[in-house]
Amino acid sequence: MSMTLRNYIYGLCLLLPLTAAADWHREEAAIMGTQITVELWHAEAAQGQALIAAVMDEMHRIDALMSTWKPDSELSRVNANAAQGPVPVSRELLRLVSHALDFSEITGGAFDITYASAGRYYDYREGLKPTAQQLAEALPAIDYRHVRLDLAGSSIRFAHPGVTIDLGGIAKGYAVDRAIRILRAAGVSNALVSAGGDTRVIGERWGRAWKVGIRDPRQRDGVVTMIPLKDLAISTSGDYERYFEEDGVRYHHILNPGTGKSPGEVHSASIIGRNATTTDALSTSLFVMGVEKGLLLIDALPDTEAVIIDNRGRMHYSAGLGRPD
Ligand code: ADP
Ligand code: MG
Repeated sequence: MSMTLRNYIYGLCLLLPLTAAADWHREEAAIMGTQITVELWHAEAAQGQALIAAVMDEMHRIDALMSTWKPDSELSRVNANAAQGPVPVSRELLRLVSHALDFSEITGGAFDITYASAGRYYDYREGLKPTAQQLAEALPAIDYRHVRLDLAGSSIRFAHPGVTIDLGGIAKGYAVDRAIRILRAAGVSNALVSAGGDTRVIGERWGRAWKVGIRDPRQRDGVVTMIPLKDLAISTSGDYERYFEEDGVRYHHILNPGTGKSPGEVHSASIIGRNATTTDALSTSLFVMGVEKGLLLIDALPDTEAVIIDNRGRMHYSAGLGRPD
């Protein structure tokens, strides 16, 4: 073999995988208080990168609109003023709040964005929780029916003083759906977008279903099962993301709207469904509803499945997933 031919073959061996790898684009960023991951296939590197940038921009935009940490966000303005009278809001915020209220209805109030009336007293980093008196005062303010929407006038008001809303249980799923919409509109046919525990995929990865792991709730970096996904979303809510412990009690970031305290029946709830807004809201809901009520709800909903890990580490599956044994 001549030197040049050998060099040529070497060159090909080196180049081919590089070229192929260049078609997959992946980036991570810290937005909305969580890790955003975007991975997509695109024939043209520049366009692939531009699409990832567009997705990250969209996440920043939604964060600026809906964060309760930013005092100038639209949501913060609602919280500051809606008990005094109607606050005009964008159609987008109105629609998502309206959607959140629908989830309150179908979950019998387990999903409730007014949980924050008590939730705002918790600081998981500082290990702070409401006093008994703060909790007693906050509880009457937790009721999604206090949130009144004027759909025609595009405004929100609270029918009770002391109401605070927070979209933390649905906004990341919504952001993932918005990202997927951007990628689809650009013709992307293989992609994954995730925001913390909320993930949605388009198509496949190298001709196989995408695989998303369900974490072991009590073992760092452990995975209990891998879920294959094609054009689906998955969300997991766990008691291990943000919490502190005091006197043997785990105070974590999901609250039972009835008590203003963290439910302890399950360690994690994962939902698989068509879009991430739905799987996000329902994973938070199932965490509150527990195994029995939660699976009853999921089995009554079309195109929706669940995997729950209870507080003894046992796994429970919705009827559509069956018992994989
Ligand atoms: P994350 O991906 O942040 O872990 P989850 O989907 O598990 O989010 O939802 C937890 C978040 O949902 C909390 O941080 C809080 O903002 C919000 N939340 C907590 N309890 C409720 C509830 N009962 N109804 C609606 N939202 C809730
Ligand atoms: Mg959720």
